Order: sequence, then C-alpha cells, then structure tokens
Amino acid sequence: MNDIAAILPAASARATPVMAQYLEIKAAHPDGLLFYRMGDFYELFFDDAVAAAGILGIALTRRGKHLGEDIPMCGVPVHAADGYLQKLIRHGARVAVCEQLEDPAEARKRGSKSVVRRDVVRLVTPGTLTEESLLESGTHNYLAALARVKGANEYALAWADISSGDLAVMRTTPLRLSADLARLSPREILVADSLLADTELARPLRESGAALTPLPPSRFDSAGGERRIAQHFGVAALEGFGAFTKAEIAGLGALLDYILLTQAGQVPHLRAPRRENPHSGLLIDGATRANLELSRTLAGERRGSLHAMIDMTLTPGGARLLGQRFANPLAVCAAIEERLDGVAFFVDSGPLRDRLRGLLAVFPDIERALGRLSVGRGSPRDLAAIRDGLSAVQPIAASLKDAPLLDGPPAEIERAHQPLAAVPAALLRALADTLGDDLPLSAGEGGFVRPGLSLELDAARRLRDDTRQVIVSLQGQYAQSSGIKSLKVRHNNILGYFIEVSAQNASTLQQAPHIYFHRQTVANAMRFSTAELGSLEQQIGAAGERALALELAIYNQLVAAVVAEQDSLSLIATAVSVIDVTSAFAELAVRRRYVRPVVDDSTAFDIRGGRHPVVEAMLQDRADGTFIANDCNLSEGDKRLWLVTGPNMAGKSTFLRQNALIVVLAQMGSFVPALSAHIGVVDRLFSRVGAADDLARGRSTFMVEMVETAAILNQATPRSFVILDEIGRGTATFDGLSIAWACVEHLHASNRSRALFATHYHELTALAARLPHLANVTIKVREWRGDVVFLHEVVAGAADRSYGIQVAKLAGLPASVTARAAEVLKLLEQSDQSSARLALVDDLPLFSAARPHAFPPDQSSPLERKLAAIEPDELAPRDALALLYELKASLPKSI
Ligand code: ATP
Repeated sequence: MNDIAAILPAASARATPVMAQYLEIKAAHPDGLLFYRMGDFYELFFDDAVAAAGILGIALTRRGKHLGEDIPMCGVPVHAADGYLQKLIRHGARVAVCEQLEDPAEARKRGSKSVVRRDVVRLVTPGTLTEESLLESGTHNYLAALARVKGANEYALAWADISSGDLAVMRTTPLRLSADLARLSPREILVADSLLADTELARPLRESGAALTPLPPSRFDSAGGERRIAQHFGVAALEGFGAFTKAEIAGLGALLDYILLTQAGQVPHLRAPRRENPHSGLLIDGATRANLELSRTLAGERRGSLHAMIDMTLTPGGARLLGQRFANPLAVCAAIEERLDGVAFFVDSGPLRDRLRGLLAVFPDIERALGRLSVGRGSPRDLAAIRDGLSAVQPIAASLKDAPLLDGPPAEIERAHQPLAAVPAALLRALADTLGDDLPLSAGEGGFVRPGLSLELDAARRLRDDTRQVIVSLQGQYAQSSGIKSLKVRHNNILGYFIEVSAQNASTLQQAPHIYFHRQTVANAMRFSTAELGSLEQQIGAAGERALALELAIYNQLVAAVVAEQDSLSLIATAVSVIDVTSAFAELAVRRRYVRPVVDDSTAFDIRGGRHPVVEAMLQDRADGTFIANDCNLSEGDKRLWLVTGPNMAGKSTFLRQNALIVVLAQMGSFVPALSAHIGVVDRLFSRVGAADDLARGRSTFMVEMVETAAILNQATPRSFVILDEIGRGTATFDGLSIAWACVEHLHASNRSRALFATHYHELTALAARLPHLANVTIKVREWRGDVVFLHEVVAGAADRSYGIQVAKLAGLPASVTARAAEVLKLLEQSDQSSARLALVDDLPLFSAARPHAFPPDQSSPLERKLAAIEPDELAPRDALALLYELKASLPKSI
C-alpha cells in the first residue's frame, strides 16, 4: 500500500511535475481525502483512491507509476461531485477540495512543462456544510467544540451552524455532557486530543454518534480564542456579548478557528455568540430521548416520532427552529409563558393564522441562502431566495399589524414583528430590478440579469446573439454557392462552428481549399471551416465573454449588498421562523384539540384527560377506535409516586409516556393533549422504558437497563419527572423484584421526584401501606368468557394478575403452549410460600407433562421429521457431520 507519509518527501523530487504538486498539497492536508481537480474531474490518488473507491463503489484504476509502483486512482466528475461528497461525508470522511486556480492556457504560457496552479479552496467536513444538496433542510447542522480549562475544572460546549449563522456556547460538566450532546446532536465535535484520553469524557463523546475531530490542545487556548473572536466580530472586547468563562472562550475560539480553516479564508456569516444558561433548559439524556421516541422511533424512523407528529411548520427555517425548541425545552416559567402567549394569540385568531400560513407556505430558505452567499458559494437562485423572501415579508408584517388586538400583541409576536417591519427596501428593489425570471444554477452560466438594466450588457448580448443569427444565415449562402442543398452549419464545444456535408458532397468543397478548409472526417460526413466562420465565432466568443463579465460584476455587487445587510436579513429570517413555529403550534392545538398548560414554579403535576399525542393521532388517522383519556394527579394528597400495575397490553407504557410527552410539549411552549394540565416546571426528565440490547457497546439487555436506572437514581431531583417501566425484568424473578423494590424506596425517600413506576411485580403494591407518598393505580380490564377486554382506563387500586396467558393467546402462541402455561400457573398460584413455590417448580413434571401436549398426536416434531428424511447411505461423510451439527443446534436450549 502506498502510504503517502512514507513516500514523502523523497518522492516529490523524483515525481512528474503534476505528481510533485499533488504530493505537496497532500502533505499539507494529510487528514482528509484530497479531491484534486484535473479538468472536468476530481481525481483521487494512492490510499485516498482506495478508500474513496470502496465507499463510493466506483472503479479503482491506475495512473502511471510512482517510485516504480502503480499509482491507484479514481475520479468523480465535477458536475456530479456533490452526490459523491454527500456519500463520503455520511461515512464520516473529510474532503479537501483542491481546485485549478488558473486557466490551463495561462499555465502553458509559462512553458510547456509548467503545471496549472492549484490549491485547496475548502475542507468539507460533516460539521461545516453549506450546500443545499448536502444538508437536510429542516434540521440544523451543528459543529460543536468541547473545551476544558484544567486548573479550574471548567468545561464548555460551543456550537455553530455555519449554514444558518447560529453560534452559541454553554457551560457543561462531564456528568451532563451526554444530555447536552443528545440535545444538540452535532454532526462533528472538535475536541483536544488530550480530552479524548479521558474516559469520563470519551464515552459520551463517542456515544453521541458525531464525527470526532481531535485537535492539538493549543487550538483551545483561551487568550488566543478571545483575540480571534473579537477580531472576527470587529469588537475590542467580548463583554458586549456576555460574561464568558475561560472555557467558553476557548471553545468558541477553537470553533471559529476551525470554521475559517475549513472555509479557506472565506468568512461565513455568524451571528454574535449567544451564551446559554445550562439551567434554562429541561435536561433530557440520550437514553430518555430515544425511549420516548422524541425525534426517532426505537426503530430509527422519523415517522411515528413525536417530532414528526407535531411538526406543522411550513418553512425550512421554521422546521429548524422547531427542531431546536424540541431538542431543548425550557425550564424557566416566564419564558415558557411567553411562548404559550404567542400560541394562544394564533389559536384565537383563526383567519389571521390561515392568511399567514398561506404566505409562509411559499417562503424560501433565506437563512441558508445567506449562509452560502456569505462564503462565496451562492448562486443567482440564492439571490432570488432573498428577493422572494423580502417581498413576502411585507404582507406578513402587514397582516400582523392589522391583527385585532385588545391589549397589544404578545411579547414574542411583537419582537418578531419589529424586524419584519424594517425590510431593507433598497436591497429588495435592487434584487427585484436586476434578477430575471429564469435563473441558472450558477452565476458562471450567465443569463440572469434582466434585459434593460445595463445598456452595455444589452449591447454585448445583442452582438453575441446577432452574430449567431449571421452564422445561421451563412448556411443558406454556403449551400447556394456550393450547390449542396444538404449543407449544414453546426456547432460543438471542440470545433466551435463548422460546415458539415455528407462524404459524397465533400469533394465539392475540397475543390475550393482557399475557402473551405478541412477540420474533421467523421462517419459518412466531413467537416470544414471558413475564415468568415472563424472570425464570427471569435466575435461571438468575445461578446459572450464581455456579457458574462458584466453579469458577474453585477452579481458580485448584489452579493456584496446582501452581505452588507446580513444582520437585518438574519433577524428577519429568525422572526419568520418564530411566526411559523408559533402559528404551527396553534394549528396543531386547533386540529388536535390541545389545551394551554399552566406551567409554574410549584411541584404540581395534575393532568386531566391526558392523551398520548402519537398513539391518539395514529388511532384517529387510521379511524381505529378512540383513545381513552386518563388523569394523572400526582399533587393530590402529595402522592407523587404512582405504582402502575395492570395486565399486559392494558396501556401502562402508553400512560407513562403520555405524561412525559406532555411535559416535553408544555415546556417547549406548545399546547398539550389534555383537558387541562398544571405542571410545576420540571428540571430533568428521565425515562427507563422497554428492553433493548446494546451489543455494539458491549452491553446486555439487563446491563442497559441497570445503567439507565443508575443514571436516574443518581441524578433525579425533587423537580424531576421520572417514568420507569418494568424495572428488573431482565434477570431472575427474585433478583428483579428485589431491585425494583429498592428502586421504589430510593425514588420515594431520596430522589423525591414526581414519578410513575409501572410493574408486573404485584408484590410491590404492598409498599403503599408503608410509603406515604406512594399511590397504587391500575388499568382496568374486563374478563369475558376467559378472554380479556382492554378498557385502558386508569383507576386507583392494584392489579392482582397480569393476564399474560390471555395476551399470549391473542398473540397467536400455539394453543398447546398456552394450555400448558395455564396448568403451570395454576400449580404455582396454589402455593404461597416462596420456598415452597420454588420446590414446586423443581418438582413440576415440566417436560414429561409438556411432551405429550407439545405436538398433537397426528403431527411429529420437526426433529423427528428431519430424522425420518435422512438417507444414511446417500450421505457423504462431510455432509453427515454437517447434519449432526444442524440436528444438535435444533435441539431445545433446555436439553
Ligand atoms: P405490557 O405490560 O405488555 O408492556 P402495557 O400495559 O404497557 O403492556 P401498552 O404498550 O401501553 O400496554 O399499550 C398496548 C396498546 O394498547 C397500545 O399499543 C395502544 O394501541 C393501546 N392503548 C394503550 N393505551 C390506550 C388508551 N388510553 N386508549 C386507547 N388505546 C390504548
């Protein structure tokens, strides 16, 4: 294998000039794949080629030799590069894009051996994308940096989305790092390599699923960071942005440094850094987010998650803001109330909401267009997005202004209205006057400036187009003078304009070589040129180039005008997103009959008529019965811990989750699926639901369960809300029961959180007699002719049985198995002493009793059928051995 580091530097001395240039650039960018531009392709060489060909599934070829060995090579066409980049980035790769910085003709002027100047113009990494095709429109693309100031034991997490300009920082601790990362779900995390050696930090970092980019600790120097940030934002000191800790400055500095490095000097638009208070949000760790299926279902799908269900936003910016609010519900009552005021305003004004939603439905993504324009990767279509956005803002602002209001608009709407009422009118006029209707993908294609704007441009275009017309008319003249009726004037990129005649007619033109000179012979045709065609072509080329240069100058002026207004544009984009999210929550509330929750500083938890938002929506959409609403009042009699027992399939998990989801919705500022809801603001939300192996991380089902339970018992506070579903199921019955028992006691006495604890260990219900803050509730079922009917109704009391066998029957377990299970259950239930019960289990004639029932008399077992089918004389010794293994593997595990 050609290891690039090994073959440098001696290599470049003996390499061809192009290879020497490649090796030099590669040496400066050893970490990523190098996309080396050669004409219409990006080529990759050596190990890069082998890696990329594997990921992209493209052919690996060879190009010449280097130091006696073949050079592996693969390439991707420039016009399709985005698709390949996307695939590589998804694989966690980083790509250095090296462009040709001059025309090859320029290079040739320096001598035939000289190489075209090339350099890396950008590093494409998962966290620094701006291209529309590489980004998901409704989600943020965060780049994060984790910094530590060792002496002070201070940590900070900084993050930015360069495609939208968002920049923020927050203090963190090793204990909460996992929850903070789960909230942001960054695509890439910058971290000093020394921190990666610290297991306490390395685990949450690796488990976040982001690409980790280790950097030397010097990049996290806080003094240097402060200088860089001040310089970038053109301020003398950072105080104006907030009082940052040293770790916060170090994180922001490293982030900014890396962004400028990857953008190769292009300065993206970033808003002034926001400092977030770590206690202002509802903390939800990764396991809880996953268990509650907040953004993805447990199967990893977006559909069916709470986020997908509640998202009624209409603009890409609104979808991203909703994602942000969703990931980070608040824990400050005043701020929650402000958001709820906004939603209530739109709930109450239906016609205004409808009008606004009509306008928002066609509102473009101005935030990302601005992001691309500010790093020089924009296009006329991005300018058009700004134009269309700005012109749509005016009716939005006007509608808000005309809204019928008794006591003024709520603060959130008022704040959003201000930037909307201050559209940069001159910019809008310039964009509207300049841009045509049909816009190309890139400025280099030209043709986007409206005719009539520039006399000079119009003249150049006219010259170009008129000359084309002259050429078209030449075809008639040549046909007439040569007498060849079928003569055609054609054009291609290699020959330019040429005359084409059939092979039979060619001799006529060949007889006048002073007029028609031969260019090319192709199958059945010959191609010629004339001096006249050549000079007209030059005129067209010159006029075209002139027109394009004029258009590009106009384009650059417009981009500069947009960038000059980037602060107000960015405020407008945020304001529109706020209006979108707020009116979308109102739409949701109206469509799904949600109510405004009361969130205050008490420790109340009183949900009346609560519903599970996703299960309810699914039942509604499928017209598959109605959802049974249930109360959950943990305030009454200070019974803050509910032990929920009930049959399988009764709706315990649904009940637990719906209450947790109502907390998330309320604290993000949405109405909630209930008749009324009073929630004392929650600081942390915990859930331990269901069982899943995490084999990739080397954890068994039971281990996962215990790790998650440990996190809850160690961290939950009296302000937290906890749901625990079936603790202790993954181990032996008595071990599990004991663990569940001790967990209930700990939650009750030490954590003192508001909590719902669902269990099939009915023994636990006895605790209610001893623990004053614990109440037993159960979910009602009716028994009917030996089957169960689920009523899904939560009532006070304890269940005495789980109806597991009836549910197993519903699930289609063979009748012989459920019948036998019923027998065993009966025997087990007849004994009440646990030791006697154990002895009974030992004595049970499990297999002797089960066997006669296992397969109905008219059916043999699969093993017997397999044995009967064997023809020993037909078997080769090797096959016989394989068969023996197969038979042994098919034996029941218990044998
Ligand atoms: P198990 O103990 O077997 O895990 P469970 O008691 O936790 O069961 P769930 O998984 O919550 O039961 O609910 C089973 C199904 O019952 C759900 O998938 C849902 O379709 C339905 N269901 C639950 N609650 C309700 C309700 N309140 N109204 C209508 N249907 C419900």
